[in-house]
Amino acid sequence: MNDLQLERYSRQILMPDFDIEGQLKLNESNVLVVGLGGLGNIASLYLSAAGVGKLTLVDHDEVELSNLARQVLYSNDNIHMAKVSAAKEQLLKQNPHTQIVAVQEKMTYARLADYIQSADLVLDCTDNFTVRQAINKTCFQTQTNLVTGAGIRWQGQLQSFLFSDQRQICYQCLYPHLDDEMLNCSESGVISPVIGTIGVLQALDAIKILSGCGTVEHGKLRLFDGAQGQWREIRLTQDPQCLICGI
Ligand SMILES: [Zn+2]
Repeated sequence: MNDLQLERYSRQILMPDFDIEGQLKLNESNVLVVGLGGLGNIASLYLSAAGVGKLTLVDHDEVELSNLARQVLYSNDNIHMAKVSAAKEQLLKQNPHTQIVAVQEKMTYARLADYIQSADLVLDCTDNFTVRQAINKTCFQTQTNLVTGAGIRWQGQLQSFLFSDQRQICYQCLYPHLDDEMLNCSESGVISPVIGTIGVLQALDAIKILSGCGTVEHGKLRLFDGAQGQWREIRLTQDPQCLICGI
């Protein structure tokens, strides 16, 4: 890191348990962000700002007017532009030291595997359950740590999987029968800061996992009720019949 980077990240480096070692670990990390909607916008902004060295952004969509209320990296000028390109432009304005790879592609299982294998950590910021299940499966198989987030209406949820050293419990244990018929926010609506809350916490979990500081509990489900301003935590048990992690 050069002097400008040391100054930029100085308030993190000041933290005794994070220090220069934590910052160097972030700077050497490659995080794959799948989905550049509301969650991916906020999470990638914080990861880039905090000094994650490389972000690979994957999304096939373009920016629409109805995105702007919660997808805060984009502006009116970005309408009809590829989300990953608009996000890259904005993130580099905020922190030119981050290496950003923008991938405008619809993810297939094979392509996902390529990207996940070269990542240190994956952020699942999608609103598509087929892709979510594929990300979970590939992260489990490649022992890549995964942070998932979701939000709909007033509800948000967050779950991290430390697959690098934990083999019990995965995303599929919780949702064995989900498919694309399930709700998503384009049909059911969402209050914007609920998405922001979850995206910020995805970034926080990612930073803790990458730096080795703080605590992230494998598989613990955290549910946020934005209407009541309340959190609930659920410790899950493995589904022994799980197609991905079951025995
Ligand atoms: Zn499982």
